[in-house]
Amino acid sequence: MQTSIATVSLSGGLAEKLEAIAAAGFAGVEIFESDLLSFNGTPRDVARLVASLGLKIVTFQPFRDFEGMPEPQRTRTFARAERKFDLMGELGCDLMMICSNVAPDSLGGVDRAAADFHELGERAAKRGIRVGFEALAWGRHVSDYRDAWEVVRRCDHAAVGVTLDSFHIFSRRTDLKAISSIPRDKIALVQLADAPWLEMDVISWSRHFRCFPGQGDFPLLDFMNAVFDTGYEGLLSLEIFNDQFRAGSARTVAVDGRRSLVYLLDQMRRRLGAAAKPVPAMPPRAKCLGVEFVEFTADDVAATELAALFAGLGFSKVGEHRSKAVTHWSQGAINLVLNSDKDGFAHSYQVTHGPSVCAMCLKVNDAAATLDRAERLRDTPFRQAVGPGELEIPAVRGLGGSLLYFVEPGSALGRLWDIDFKPLPQGGGAAGLIAIDHISQSMHYDEMLSWLLFYVALLDVNKTPQLDVIDPGGIVRSQVIQSPDGALRIALNASQSQQTLSSRFLYEYFGSGVQHIAFGTGDIVATVKKLRENGVAMLTIPDNYYDDLEARTDLPADRLGELRANGILYDRDDSGEYLQAYIANVGGLFFFEIVERRGYKGFGAVNAPIRLAAQARLSPKAAA
Ligand code: MG
Ligand code: MG
Repeated sequence: MQTSIATVSLSGGLAEKLEAIAAAGFAGVEIFESDLLSFNGTPRDVARLVASLGLKIVTFQPFRDFEGMPEPQRTRTFARAERKFDLMGELGCDLMMICSNVAPDSLGGVDRAAADFHELGERAAKRGIRVGFEALAWGRHVSDYRDAWEVVRRCDHAAVGVTLDSFHIFSRRTDLKAISSIPRDKIALVQLADAPWLEMDVISWSRHFRCFPGQGDFPLLDFMNAVFDTGYEGLLSLEIFNDQFRAGSARTVAVDGRRSLVYLLDQMRRRLGAAAKPVPAMPPRAKCLGVEFVEFTADDVAATELAALFAGLGFSKVGEHRSKAVTHWSQGAINLVLNSDKDGFAHSYQVTHGPSVCAMCLKVNDAAATLDRAERLRDTPFRQAVGPGELEIPAVRGLGGSLLYFVEPGSALGRLWDIDFKPLPQGGGAAGLIAIDHISQSMHYDEMLSWLLFYVALLDVNKTPQLDVIDPGGIVRSQVIQSPDGALRIALNASQSQQTLSSRFLYEYFGSGVQHIAFGTGDIVATVKKLRENGVAMLTIPDNYYDDLEARTDLPADRLGELRANGILYDRDDSGEYLQAYIANVGGLFFFEIVERRGYKGFGAVNAPIRLAAQARLSPKAAA
């Protein structure tokens, strides 16, 4: 199925938008009038530019307040339409989109609207142009696609069809059943937009919060199911008004748009099987079995400090890379890689970002298929030279230019520690850490939807609802992606305030990246005691927190005393308890968390403000 996107979805000038749209692999583009008006050239220049990029102009938008006008406005409206037809002729575009009338002086009545469309259809057909009628959710007389379709049906003109826009349909929670009964040749265009469910006026919701399929909450598969029922094989066009997209780079947002449609169509193919025949096959979302390793990059000084911290956390240095200055640290099922080599990706990452997490490796069921899917989703594959006999691990670019590697059990990729590393004698001193519970990544606010889609489209993960966490410097928006069994949990955090810990992390670190890693333990009290013995500084939690905890829970006094003495935060939900403790900041950038999860499903959001305030006190640059 061919795809298209509206110029209004992207930032920049028209030429920049068109180049980004073509580079992302779209076949078509909806040209918005505002983009044409600000373009330094004639409509014919636009037509030539579009053709030179291999694109087709799907439609020219918008044409408002057409149907049901009384005279003398009606005559003027038709004259206005004729001028638009002239312009469309110069643009080389044959579909005019008309959204339902919102003018206070417009008149209702299906037959009146149908008669207007019949006359417009006559005029359009003479020029080889078609007309699509779309019900705006806030239209004055027509606000429901079923009414728009009734107008089109009664007008009964070959040049007039109905446009289906998922936002207008879902925002009014309109039943989808009637879509299936529209003949496919009467559907002029299908426009797709997702959005979070919000309680607000529909116009603001539409103009600021639309997003790409998969980034919001609308049941778009049900919508697509109804569209497929009609046999429609025309264009799927993204029409997204979103402030974050208008703040981001046109190229990135265009790629996200393509990715969203590739992912949506893949889901349709899986749902419908052979009935979804115009959709190409691709490997399924990768089943994630866990985090195989997290790789830190550091110069020699920072590497020495990090190695001491790893040892303090109970990790053993179990291997040394055969050809590079890279060590392997292990405890329970956790593997950490410390890279201070003077060559290669990790080194250049270190030069830009300082000591940081430069890569994560996921254990998946099929690494090659995961890379194949990633490439089809327009993720960016990464390769670098490896030593003789060493493994080339499939990888794509992740957040902030970091890498996301994929290995699988049962192949050479599952034996990477034996192949690439020389084993060292195991030390003792483990602190009871079992596995990585979750990884938290901080990013710019306008990147959040992008990385959400990246993970959800590639991996078999679900997303939790968005959550706002109070930081002393402002609000941090947080959303978690996790695999059904919890083998992978990644928290995505972003803030529009410059003063939050999340934002200061971005500033000091020169970009987005891993902010903290939470290690799971089966006995947090024993683990924290062991860490203290090892000289690891833990984050101090104020006494007030425990006084409040005592007041709002039924925890016995000795249990509370134990939490208080060890700086452990507590939460519980319907499914269990959650205990958290934090290592005091490492260089003010990333940090480590220790958690004991007893069936609990969340991430201790209730405790986040306490933790953030305690961390802010530690940092000299903390918000006042
Ligand atoms: Mg629309
Ligand atoms: Mg956490």
